[in-house]
Amino acid sequence: MDFALNEEQRMFQKMFRDFVTNEVAPLAEEIDGEEKLPRELLEKTAMQGFLGALLPEEFEGVALDAISYCLLLEELARACTSTAMTISVHNGLVSKTILDNGSDEQKGKYLEPMAFGEKIGCFALTEPAAGSDVTALATRARRDGGDYVLNGCKTWASNGGIADIFLVFAITDPDVEPKGISAFIVERDTPGFKVGYREPTMGLRGLTCNTLYFDDCRVPAENLLGQEGEGFKIAMRALDFARLSLSAICLGGAQAALEAGIQFAIEHEEFGGPIALKQAIQNFIADAASEIQALRYLVYHTAWLADTGATYTRDASMAKLIGSEIAMRAANKMLQVHGGFGYMKEYAIERMYRDFRALQIMEGTSEIQRFIIARDILKEKGLVIKP
Ligand SMILES: Cc1cc2nc3c(=O)[nH]c(=O)nc-3n(C[C@H](O)[C@H](O)[C@H](O)COP(=O)(O)OP(=O)(O)OC[C@H]3O[C@@H](n4cnc5c(N)ncnc54)[C@H](O)[C@@H]3O)c2cc1C
Repeated sequence: MDFALNEEQRMFQKMFRDFVTNEVAPLAEEIDGEEKLPRELLEKTAMQGFLGALLPEEFEGVALDAISYCLLLEELARACTSTAMTISVHNGLVSKTILDNGSDEQKGKYLEPMAFGEKIGCFALTEPAAGSDVTALATRARRDGGDYVLNGCKTWASNGGIADIFLVFAITDPDVEPKGISAFIVERDTPGFKVGYREPTMGLRGLTCNTLYFDDCRVPAENLLGQEGEGFKIAMRALDFARLSLSAICLGGAQAALEAGIQFAIEHEEFGGPIALKQAIQNFIADAASEIQALRYLVYHTAWLADTGATYTRDASMAKLIGSEIAMRAANKMLQVHGGFGYMKEYAIERMYRDFRALQIMEGTSEIQRFIIARDILKEKGLVIKP
């Protein structure tokens, strides 16, 4: 058993940390306030290879292993959760899914521009009446000659405002659940497709989450990803990796909250000395640090499992469940350490508190993660459970 990062992973970690410290951290408040990522920042991340992080060299990617990729997201999230999420959706949910399931033509057409950041990805599964229950999708795709005709609406499509390539899940056969779902690559300028309303949100304000409309939108049949009816399987596999990714974002975010709390506790004085001398404050720090350390091992272990090719659905759900709760608890405790200052926009902990709340909801709520974990455990005992 070896708990150490290898030399290459340590080198990547330093490189990611340096870039994030210099280029992302100074922009975090602006990204939150302006509610968008500066285009130049995305271009700089592309130059570093971050937008082709999971793609092989053949498609101009840098082919990070899952552990190194988690280190990247962890570092990004230490500075800005919105930036980390934007990059995570582009890589893990979209370009990796095309890499894993696409035809040679699809990979040849889409992956290189995605690695260069010329095209940004968006993953559109959720609908107004189909969130946790993916089998309730209402968006339909009807085959018509050489096309599929899409009708329906998606909500909460992260990156919707900036994306060029939309991975859209729609029902092709309403009589077969969940196998009647198929996945399509939809380009932004496709007639009948419109990127609509941007959701104003409590946090993660740099992440643009939009409603998408499909009105007799004709998508060429060659844009079907995988086979007809494979959409559910494709989405679930993508979400396994997305949950691992999100747990790394939780880890980086929680660490940033802790560091902000420690710094404040050392600098801020009450009753004639730093509040860090008070045991109540030390307890906040010790509890958060211990949870973060436990999370770190869970995230890296799950990433290692992914790298070995093992099934890691249960582990990814555990990491996502625990990670999002630890991040939220860390932000809550460290905001308390800040006292009234923590409630002011001037302090980063206020933004973290708002940002982290979304992590317990997106990519499957905590309740759904608990279901996935229990289903996997009980299946081993011969009991089949339903959500
Ligand atoms: C910031 C943000 C970004 C997002 N980005 C994307 C994206 O890029 N692409 C995308 O497709 N979606 C995205 N989503 C949508 C997200 O995946 C859904 O919000 C999530 O899956 C929950 O669905 P819902 O909001 O419809 O809630 P619902 O499914 O309606 O759930 C409401 C409540 O009921 C609970 N619940 C539901 N079913 C059960 C059950 N069987 N057992 C116990 N409790 C249950 C839920 O846990 C929740 O507490 C995003 C959401 C957010 C907040």
